[in-house]
Amino acid sequence: MIEYRNLRVALLGAGSVGAQVARLLLAHQDELAARAGAGLELVGIAVRDIDAPRTVDLPRELFTTDAESLILGADIVVELMGGIEPARTLVLQALNSGADVVTANKALIATHGPELSDAAEQVGAQLAYEAAVGGAIPIIRPLRDSLAGDRVERILGIVNGTTNFVLDRMHTHGESLETALAVASDLGYAEADPTADIEGYDAAQKAAILAGLAFHTTVPIEQVYREGITRVTKDEVDAARESGHVIKLLAICERLTDPATGAEGVSARVYPALVPAAHPLAAVRGAHNAVFVQASAAGDLMFYGAGAGGVETASAVLGDLVSVARRHVVGGPGVAESMHAHLPVLEIGRAVTRYQISLQVVDQPGVLARIARMLSDGGVSVEAVRQTIASDPSESPAAGAAAPAATATLVIGTHPAPESALAATVEALAQSDVVAAVTSVLRVEGS
Ligand code: NAP
Repeated sequence: MIEYRNLRVALLGAGSVGAQVARLLLAHQDELAARAGAGLELVGIAVRDIDAPRTVDLPRELFTTDAESLILGADIVVELMGGIEPARTLVLQALNSGADVVTANKALIATHGPELSDAAEQVGAQLAYEAAVGGAIPIIRPLRDSLAGDRVERILGIVNGTTNFVLDRMHTHGESLETALAVASDLGYAEADPTADIEGYDAAQKAAILAGLAFHTTVPIEQVYREGITRVTKDEVDAARESGHVIKLLAICERLTDPATGAEGVSARVYPALVPAAHPLAAVRGAHNAVFVQASAAGDLMFYGAGAGGVETASAVLGDLVSVARRHVVGGPGVAESMHAHLPVLEIGRAVTRYQISLQVVDQPGVLARIARMLSDGGVSVEAVRQTIASDPSESPAAGAAAPAATATLVIGTHPAPESALAATVEALAQSDVVAAVTSVLRVEGS
């Protein structure tokens, strides 16, 4: 057997993930070389501060602050710095010099993926980013390769561990969002500034990446609809439990077909939604992630596991590293992604889903019929209604005061309806004289 020369690996970043990648690369050199068909020689690690404390003891002589020089002459560059710059510039430099790039950087791929893929294709290099979505969970390669012969219809993903942890605590411990978030922070599941997680930005980046791969279409991050979990209340979580659901922050990527024209489009959206308790995603607890894929021939598939963590994410990075190393050994250009479909990315109004609407209404005869008519006039048909009396009309008013109108809470489950129809109908309900308040509107997914 012909021995292939060692491949020079440059590592950018030695934080939570990078330090674990370096450790495993050094500890399992022989095994990884046997699998890749070539030795993987770690030639250096670029960081900001060589003297910063590290979670892993690594040879000091490998460290440098000169990332640009390090990538010169590297066969494979592993980018684990995070953020857009200087990561983007360094990755482009690496690709333009013909090096393969492995990255876990979802922000970079979601915002500059097409630019980086084009650069890779120009020189026949490989760009791999399995760890950018779902940490340790294999989902990029299944979408790009394993399902390349199938037709993905829909993806429902729990792709942010922090928000899943918070919602799970609210569900199982009856905590408020603020308390659950404080617990997440104490346990290291939430960043000091949790905005990117709780406002859904992180999940939206992952939705853009998943939708692009699933539908062979570039999905710009600006076109992913996004709502975070900050408005989810304890009452909504309790009501969800009572109605046999759990609330999950979902990244939803869907192929939509216009019934009139047959034209297809892509919907990519992130929001907290009610998921039936029997759905596999409802069982995803704590900070775990899962991606539920529905494909035309394969049917339903679920990918589940640790969505973050240094060593867990390092597993996905090393998988990419061995994979791109094999290509070096075999020769030939890297395999580009197929983004041939060019489907339009549709606005949120085109999404069709079920809703659960909670209203406080005046408790008098005919109210239910009026509300049902308003919904049907708006193109939203009712599937089920639950009613509870919220205030007692028998309580005697103070002398001279008018008797307060009794109010009732209506929880209305709808049949699937377009988002645009629902928004207009909820607006009409809020204006109605029989509705005291629209207390909650949640989408129902996975039913
Ligand atoms: P991290 O702990 O913040 O580490 C970042 C590393 O990059 C540090 O070693 C830092 O150097 C270095 N770095 C940052 N800016 C640099 C610059 N301008 N020049 C040179 N070095 C620089 O980050 P992480 O958690 O390991 O995440 C790395 C990537 O993996 C991110 O894209 C992240 O989104 C992704 N990811 C992380 C996880 C996870 O669980 N952590 C999961 C999935 C994906 P110093 O050490 O000197 O500061």
